[in-house]
Amino acid sequence: MSKMPPNSLVVHYHEIALKGDNRPLFVRQLIENIQQATLRLGVQKIVAPRGRIILFLEEGANWTEIVGRLKSVFGIANYSPAWRRSTGYEAIEETIAALIPEKAFASFRMSARRGDKSYPIRSQELNERLGRFVEEKSGARVDLENPERTFHVEILPREALIYTEKHRGPGGLPVGVSGPVAALISGGIDSPVASYQMMKRGCTVSFIHFHSYPFVTKASWEKAEELVEHLTAYQFHSRLYAVPFGEVQRQIVTSAPPALRVVLYRRFMVRIAQELARREGAKALLTGESVGQVASQTLENLAVIEEVAALPILRPLIGFNKDEIITVAQEIGTYPISIQPDQDCCRLFIPPHPAVRARLEAIHQAEAKLDIDGLVKMGVEGVVMREFRFGEG
Ligand code: ATP
Ligand code: MG
Repeated sequence: MSKMPPNSLVVHYHEIALKGDNRPLFVRQLIENIQQATLRLGVQKIVAPRGRIILFLEEGANWTEIVGRLKSVFGIANYSPAWRRSTGYEAIEETIAALIPEKAFASFRMSARRGDKSYPIRSQELNERLGRFVEEKSGARVDLENPERTFHVEILPREALIYTEKHRGPGGLPVGVSGPVAALISGGIDSPVASYQMMKRGCTVSFIHFHSYPFVTKASWEKAEELVEHLTAYQFHSRLYAVPFGEVQRQIVTSAPPALRVVLYRRFMVRIAQELARREGAKALLTGESVGQVASQTLENLAVIEEVAALPILRPLIGFNKDEIITVAQEIGTYPISIQPDQDCCRLFIPPHPAVRARLEAIHQAEAKLDIDGLVKMGVEGVVMREFRFGEG
């Protein structure tokens, strides 16, 4: 019995439980995301009775892989391996007995719930009988307030569900419930982390990368592809728009003062990204900017960039330190991809001393010499789109 792998999983969510009227929608999305994440791993069915989700596993289901996948399903607060047995009292006792030797514990609590009210033994009586049984078996004492272990027994209509350990899930909101956003993704460290943060808040992210190929190698574009593929594990389906940006940069370089270049690049990125965001139905743009990290990210320059934005620009890393961003990048596995060498479009034609406070009039003067609409159109029309589906690497 102790060698018998769990044949179910109980998944708990917390944040979404707070969302009142939206709750059924959140739960439905969470179930759908769990389904997507565990496709072809032997999940037989998923049910959602009373405030939690239960996965029924087929015999021989890929248990460890399923648990690994749940770690990237946002909205899961915690999950427990669970054993589904017949509802007979002996079978329940036997299952609990098998769970005891795993780890020693000094105190415990029984938590029985009778979902099926026709079950002959009432919850209180189950708690008492099973409690005595565990006391005898383990030598541990009952502690209702602060137990080291809780044994859950739930009586479903035809089966009993028994579980004890809780593992932390990633938390957050299920991807899809907060609406679509369009991320400006470079090949760098920050923008993939920013994208991850918003997925964790329930947004579906589509990606836009600006490259200067063929002025430089395709390295940054390929990195963006690799990053998007990696991040698709959290949302199951992604689109990456690759925008040719070399010509825009070339024209900015020939007509604008060097110190203004970076801010001008960013304004064009926002204008083009916005057009693509409209196609995607995205409600906001998303960047990896954080105050003061580089010259283009002072409050003054952020305001100058934002002047051309019709959509809100989300900057989830705005108050993060670089080392904090790197920690997340390492946790989610984007870091090794991001630090591969590339030729980022913005390092091409980058001036040695970018303006820390670009003045709006100077920017407007510089842009007056450019065919703004024409350049935006060129970017949008030159786009190459690629789709990514989870598990299709
Ligand atoms: P990152 O690590 O995300 O590249 P960074 O610290 O290097 O950020 P910048 O290069 O100033 O900062 O870029 C600021 C933000 O502008 C990025 O986080 C990203 O959202 C966007 N961005 C920069 N370059 C590109 C690009 N080539 N394609 C798409 N978005 C870009
Ligand atoms: Mg960068």
